[in-house]
Amino acid sequence: MQKLTGGCLCGGVKFTFANENLRTADACHCSQCRRWSGFLWGSVNAPLGAVRFINDKSLKWYRASEYARRGFCGECGASMFWHGEKLEGHNTRIAIALGALDEPHQIKIEEHIFVADKGQYYEIADALPQKSQY
Ligand SMILES: [Zn+2]
Ligand SMILES: [Zn+2]
Repeated sequence: MQKLTGGCLCGGVKFTFANENLRTADACHCSQCRRWSGFLWGSVNAPLGAVRFINDKSLKWYRASEYARRGFCGECGASMFWHGEKLEGHNTRIAIALGALDEPHQIKIEEHIFVADKGQYYEIADALPQKSQY
């Protein structure tokens, strides 16, 4: 089974997960993701139990809302995980930032989500499906 690997900019967070049972990779345009990452946030959803940390020395969790938390590196600031831990149907999965993954891999963004909330400073210029919410 092929393993995917990833990590933050400084190496304080390194992780691996199985390249199976992944759900759609998407680009999220919501205002929270844009504020958190600096632009839209691309991620792939993996089963929570499939993620193994090789290093989580500087991993921090920010409680972004009453139902979700966001994982980032407390040293370099990389925005890496979204976990809807109190959202039924989401809590057993974790969204992993595509920008954190080591290349090469086969994952491609398949859709845009929360486009109703997108920033005014760019256009979505590809032909992928656009969902106003999730
Ligand atoms: Zn880091
Ligand atoms: Zn978002």
